[in-house]
Amino acid sequence: MKLGFIGTGYVGLVSGVGFGELGNDVVCVDIDEKKIELINKGVPPIFENGLEEMLKRLIASKKLVATTDTEMAVANSEILFICTGTPSRADGSIDLRYIQSAAENVGKALKNSDEFKTVVVKSTVVPGTTRDFVLPILEKHSGKKAGVDFGVAMNPEFLKEGVAIEDFQNPDRVVLGTEDPKSLKMLRELYSFVNCDILETDTATAEMIKYASNSFLAVKISFINEIANMCEKMGADVNLVAQGMGMDDRISPKFLRPGIGYGGSCFPKDVKALRAAAEAAGVTAKMLSASLEVNKAQPLRAVELLKKHMDPSGKTIAFLGMAFKPDTDDMRESRAIPLAKELMDLGAKIRGYDPIAKETAKMSMPEGTEFFENIDDLLNGADAAILVTEWNEFRELTPQFFLDHGVKYLVDGRRIYDKTEFNKSGVVTEVLGEA
Ligand code: NAD
Repeated sequence: MKLGFIGTGYVGLVSGVGFGELGNDVVCVDIDEKKIELINKGVPPIFENGLEEMLKRLIASKKLVATTDTEMAVANSEILFICTGTPSRADGSIDLRYIQSAAENVGKALKNSDEFKTVVVKSTVVPGTTRDFVLPILEKHSGKKAGVDFGVAMNPEFLKEGVAIEDFQNPDRVVLGTEDPKSLKMLRELYSFVNCDILETDTATAEMIKYASNSFLAVKISFINEIANMCEKMGADVNLVAQGMGMDDRISPKFLRPGIGYGGSCFPKDVKALRAAAEAAGVTAKMLSASLEVNKAQPLRAVELLKKHMDPSGKTIAFLGMAFKPDTDDMRESRAIPLAKELMDLGAKIRGYDPIAKETAKMSMPEGTEFFENIDDLLNGADAAILVTEWNEFRELTPQFFLDHGVKYLVDGRRIYDKTEFNKSGVVTEVLGEA
């Protein structure tokens, strides 16, 4: 099929490349000329395992082209996916400005088209957005009628950064939210490659499935973090608690890993947006507020653990990792940021090393952060280290390695080190959630 992706970030690029590899003809659109230039050279502007090789192949075979011209994409596509960002406003509610501009551009281009094309919102948007916001914009700018001249649909994206290509190829579910039978037929055909359940709904339900899923996982993380804080005080082992809970197949062991909290481009923003939308609809989202509250306090637990052993004022604290999670360069809402701010407020100097999030960390970490290119340079001269992101290369570090670099204090914010072993070897180690 001929597909257009408006917005070529994580979702637009991964989906475009994924569908391109399946033999579809893909046009990727972005307003960022630099991104378009890179993509047309076969260089992904984001890091995602396996993406570069696939993109290079598609560019070479001309199965994928990138452009800043939405009209060209609309003219050459049967299905157009809107994949622009949906950031938070200052009050946490969803900011639809990029969705609006994308819909306006697509609408204007639809004016000149005689074919039935379907416009699919893939971005995460609050329930009702596709039907009550995007559809009227498309109708207004195209002068055409939805359901008759063009279709409208919502197809939420569930990919996880770091394993996004794998998630594209083997999704655990596909949700097709549609308002007209032609769009549903087209989307069924497009997704006929999947080997999983396909749930067909209206657009508002599809939108809510995405928010409810992300919010549930965010609540689950905050829940286990709260349990970890209790375990620390009550002498229970949170690893075994999580393991024991996870043996119940109604609970599952996933997302039961305590740490310094969730970050990334989705969970914090989506929980806040759903809470704001719920409040606007007259529903108080108490569970969502509780999750956000726990998550805000969680990075500060690492500071408390450090303060058990030192006054951070004037000390140099080394961050092992800064990305919001391993296998990505995404720094959006990374817990490294509030953690660094808190320590800086206490007078500490912050330095960091991340194997992949190098440039993004420079743009996101608080001013004054020092950046290093390897673990040796990071640790030499530091007074203490905090494990922020559980990259594999940090898992291999031994207590002796820290001692060899003169670091005697360590806070493990992601629970990858053996506290007893490290303490026995002379590194004073605190592990979040452990007494
Ligand atoms: P992103 O910020 O990485 O990419 C969005 C892109 O849209 C940017 O490159 C921007 O320049 C471009 N853009 C903005 N306005 C445009 C316009 N009018 N025309 C063309 N391009 C335009 O965002 P992302 O991480 O890919 O997320 C996109 C959406 O998907 C968001 O709603 C997000 O919540 C959702 N989502 C993200 C993930 C994820 O893991 N990143 C997973 C599932 C869903």
